[in-house]
Amino acid sequence: MSDKPEKFIDENGLRLDGRRVDEIRPMKMEIGVLSRADGSCYLEWGKNKVLAAVYGPRELHPRRMQKADSVLIRYRYNMAAFSVEDRIRPGPSRRSTEISKVSREAFEPVVLTHLYPGAVIDVFAEVLQADAGTRTAAINAASVALADAGIPMKGLVSACAVGKVDGQLVLDLNKPEDNYGDADIPMAMTSDGEITLVQMDGDVTQEEFKQAIEMCKEGCRQIMEIQKETLRNKFTKLDDVEVPDE
Ligand code: UDP
Repeated sequence: MSDKPEKFIDENGLRLDGRRVDEIRPMKMEIGVLSRADGSCYLEWGKNKVLAAVYGPRELHPRRMQKADSVLIRYRYNMAAFSVEDRIRPGPSRRSTEISKVSREAFEPVVLTHLYPGAVIDVFAEVLQADAGTRTAAINAASVALADAGIPMKGLVSACAVGKVDGQLVLDLNKPEDNYGDADIPMAMTSDGEITLVQMDGDVTQEEFKQAIEMCKEGCRQIMEIQKETLRNKFTKLDDVEVPDE
């Protein structure tokens, strides 16, 4: 028997988790949580829990994999075996390989890759608890971890999804909306609104697609504020540290 809810949006315009159609789930982030990584970020977004770690830039071995004129970015999205209801088989899958590829590409336009020829930057995004929107959650955490590692970037990347349920567009899908909705469109963008990732599952009209981009822009703008605040909190605290006189 399907667990599909009869209605996703009630007569007051509220969703199953009480959110309005244009509201994102509560998000909090912590930076610098891993002492061995150059940069790291732990993110909770609704019931999603994701840890991102960045290593590098460091010299790439084997040398034949080096790029002469730019740094190589590697991105690994991984779901922990215990992150979902049914255990996930450890190791790469078609899904995780695809998500890793598109997520890496979401960062390529912002990282100043030409500064580190021959080097590699490794980004690991580990999903500890999954509840829809994990690829976007991982990108949000990875973006802050890259900044925490001091990787020169044109700006942060923020991501969230827009979907369609009960014939209406909704921002930041929860699990039932993701499972049983009519569309799922995850996007990532820069602070200038340049889209660096867009995927689509399901059907929307051209007009709805344009609206979805606008909704996503607003969601990403709010997420970017949280990302910046997380970074500000760490780096202003560092500014406050008194440097002893020589
Ligand atoms: N999911 C799952 N098992 C899987 C893959 C996904 O239970 O093997 C769940 C998980 O909660 C995930 C959601 O389904 O967040 C939606 O998955 P999707 O592939 O749409 O990616 P996401 O929305 O997480 O980026």
